[in-house]
Amino acid sequence: MNKETKLCHDDQEYFKNQGAIVPPIFQNSLFAFEDWDEIDAAFNRPEEAAIYTRGTNPTVKFVEDKIAAIAQGEKARLFASGMGAISAAILHCVKAGSHIVSAQQIYGPANNFMHNYLTQKCGISISYVDGSAESYAKALRPETSLFYLESPGSVMFPVLDVPAITQIARKHNIKTVMDNTWATPLFQPVLTMGVDLEVHSCSKYLGGHSDIVAGVIIGSKSDLDAIQLHEQAWLGAKMAPFEAWLLLRSLRSLPIRLRQHQHNAMAIAAFLEQHPAVARVHYPGLGSFPQRELALKQFKGFSGLMSFELATDDLNRIKEFVDGLQLFKLGVSWGGHDSLVYPPAISYLKEQSPEQFEALGIPRGLIRISVGLEHVNDLINDLDRQLSGLGQ
Ligand SMILES: *Cc1c(COP(=O)(O)O)cnc(C)c1O
Repeated sequence: MNKETKLCHDDQEYFKNQGAIVPPIFQNSLFAFEDWDEIDAAFNRPEEAAIYTRGTNPTVKFVEDKIAAIAQGEKARLFASGMGAISAAILHCVKAGSHIVSAQQIYGPANNFMHNYLTQKCGISISYVDGSAESYAKALRPETSLFYLESPGSVMFPVLDVPAITQIARKHNIKTVMDNTWATPLFQPVLTMGVDLEVHSCSKYLGGHSDIVAGVIIGSKSDLDAIQLHEQAWLGAKMAPFEAWLLLRSLRSLPIRLRQHQHNAMAIAAFLEQHPAVARVHYPGLGSFPQRELALKQFKGFSGLMSFELATDDLNRIKEFVDGLQLFKLGVSWGGHDSLVYPPAISYLKEQSPEQFEALGIPRGLIRISVGLEHVNDLINDLDRQLSGLGQ
């Protein structure tokens, strides 16, 4: 063989894993076949066969199967982002003229996709409801084809009665899509509560290390096969092999990370609740949470994202509080090892007038924190120093 040929060809024997304890990354775009008949047979089962990585890649599939198993779904598909997964799941459930019923407090870009994009481009309509099962039932129309859920919401943490809502959907042959990013499949197994399509941003707890942007849909084989062949293949937001490999690494520590996020968050929520500079804490894990009974029924655990209201609405003092924190870093997103702080007022006041912001019911002094994996005493000291500086 000439050097040129040698450089282009890999010894196939070399890749027989060699006892590697971590599966290798199949970092390839396509798969080659022995002959006509073999590739012909692969084309006959496009949901399974590895032909091209936008369809199936062994590294990605390995992780999809693992996530499907922990979420008790038949099949999962990984996407290049949470929004890639969410938009594909929604598109699978609607057509021109469809009507969507959605909870009010959902992730902003998911809301914009339905409310500003699908309504304009596809003649789809959307109704927002307060989140009770009755409110979903009342909003029903003959053309309703999707109930969209997120629970808890990630600003004020309202909790939906998932089994009651999915029961209504099933009775009327309506699909349900639920964003379960906050709780993860470990703390809230929503497929066992009647949800058709569970979606996650894996950029949060499933990834957990603030180093990937990724998404997943989990559900029945028939729904996921259709999404794979249509919305995923044609819009193309497929996860890349290296991201899947990082996610596989992350999933190994998901249970132990969640346990520690919960431990730290519980202690911080209790600390904040008794602090005179804090008006209110929004965290489903607290005994004083207004929907406590529903939360205990639905969650097997509570993750690390919460919000609290400073007892002031003076923007300068709110800004001082945020800027002076040393361990909590200022940034969007959440669910990583690193603790973060984010006051929604920053982005809302950019996009909306103070009156519109007021009308959303989100207090100006609301601070969202993602509690990470640092020692909880250090995190409490960081908050305590800044809160005490605020006075009352
Ligand atoms: C971040 C987030 C998403 C979107 O995920 P990306 O990976 O950023 O596309 C969806 N839902 C919730 C609740 C999120 O926090």
